Amino acid sequence: MPKMSLDQLQASLRGEVIRPADPAYESARKVYNGMIDKRPAVIVRCVDVADVMAAVAFARDNEILAAVRGGGHNGGGLGICDGGLVVDLSRMKGVRVDPAARTARVGGGSTWGDVDHATHAFGMATPSGIISTTGVGGLTLGGGIGHLTRKHGLTVDNLLGVDMVLADGRFVTADADQNADLFWAVRGGGGNFGVVTSFLFKLQPVSMVYAGPTLWPLDQAEGVMRLYAQFIAGAPEDVNGFFAFMTVPPAPMFPEHLHGKKMCGVVWCCVGSPEAAEAALKPVRQFGKPAFDHVGPAPFPMVQSLFDALYPPGLQWYWKADFVKELGKDAIGLHVKHGSQLPTMHSTMHLYPINGAVHRTGRDKTAFSFRDSTWAEVIVGVDPDPANKDRIVAWAREYWDALHPYSSGGAYVNFMMDEGQDRIKATYRDNYDRLANIKKKYDPTNFFRVNQNIIPAA
Ligand SMILES: Cc1cc2nc3c(=O)[nH]c(=O)nc-3n(C[C@H](O)[C@H](O)[C@H](O)COP(=O)(O)OP(=O)(O)OC[C@H]3O[C@@H](n4cnc5c(N)ncnc54)[C@H](O)[C@@H]3O)c2cc1C
Repeated sequence: MPKMSLDQLQASLRGEVIRPADPAYESARKVYNGMIDKRPAVIVRCVDVADVMAAVAFARDNEILAAVRGGGHNGGGLGICDGGLVVDLSRMKGVRVDPAARTARVGGGSTWGDVDHATHAFGMATPSGIISTTGVGGLTLGGGIGHLTRKHGLTVDNLLGVDMVLADGRFVTADADQNADLFWAVRGGGGNFGVVTSFLFKLQPVSMVYAGPTLWPLDQAEGVMRLYAQFIAGAPEDVNGFFAFMTVPPAPMFPEHLHGKKMCGVVWCCVGSPEAAEAALKPVRQFGKPAFDHVGPAPFPMVQSLFDALYPPGLQWYWKADFVKELGKDAIGLHVKHGSQLPTMHSTMHLYPINGAVHRTGRDKTAFSFRDSTWAEVIVGVDPDPANKDRIVAWAREYWDALHPYSSGGAYVNFMMDEGQDRIKATYRDNYDRLANIKKKYDPTNFFRVNQNIIPAA
């Protein structure tokens, strides 16, 4: 086959080829994390599966590095690359809800806001994260932790199948019956195995939830953390709540006297009846009188987009993560020490529960290994000003260094920067070798390597 030129590639597409000289290039190369500044040789904005096949074939035949961009939210900027070709799925949105089957077929470039909007009309949702602008692609392929985790499991626990374009150009479906090894691998193994052009999700009957933040002053942080750790270990699965250190933003939902104050708290999201949620949360609300309690009935998409305005695209992000099994006295003390020193208004630390329904699936049943943990911890240095980069990075690293010895050893792939093979292996544990063998079968040349990379087995 003679190699195609970019003009020929453009002629073969319904979508768009964007080159460095094109006016659209500067905005097309931007990703969510303003710290990432990569310059691909070409961005292919695909609109359908045929475009994805053409883009993959072009990169493969011309031996160009390829990156795949879903929502562009990856902290380490793994949806884009320097000098290579970006398979940009941002125009491949579209959600088709089947209300009778309780499923949604979701385009590979959709965001969670797209999904929530479509499914909420039918009184349903599928578990995702906590921000609506995050891409379905990256979040799902890494596992998916969010407001519905304790009740309905990880996002991958609600994934019924995927349509994919493989490195050799083949289009396949992976589900429980077809290419089951591939289906196992994409449930946590990231973008290592091909381009997912669409996802099929199971929908859960989630419409109105009982949700919002409860905040306490920092001088109560130690007690709040201890109470939270005990509470969430045994709380009904209808109750989800992630712990946070945060600075109260100057937003109308918060009273003015709290604006700019560093605090700790829990962001709740309970399914089931408001009465049951009120009863379940009673012991927490009675602890040391919260300084702010904004928990009440709300439509699920509103809760999912609660933080969107606070975190617009383009801020500087640096994060470090770990899985955590237990929060003992020493770890709590260190959390309080470092969490009290948030370096900027947007910086934060979250502990997302991954117990409840997540624990009911065995750790070898999907590629996501750390199901036996209790929390996914993420320490996030964030600020709009690039001049503060060093400050947020240093804070996140110091915090992480102090707490890492109390962790389970690996981290959620979606909360990692580009941190190298040792961290990836520590994260997949005994699932790594199986992933490496599946990688060898479906992508033996490691064509898809701009990701938390699984090296094909020898
Ligand atoms: C503000 C913010 C909030 C977040 N909150 C949560 C949260 O609550 N829960 C949670 O679990 N995670 C959360 N994350 C982490 C998020 O899951 C990861 O950043 C994830 O990588 C984002 O996916 P994306 O498609 O937007 O990213 P991208 O940068 O587009 O892609 C990330 C990786 O996935 C691959 N990829 C993306 N789409 C596809 C596809 N269709 N086919 C094949 N490969 C693909 C890319 O190649 C890349 O390797 C959050 C991130 C941010 C920035």
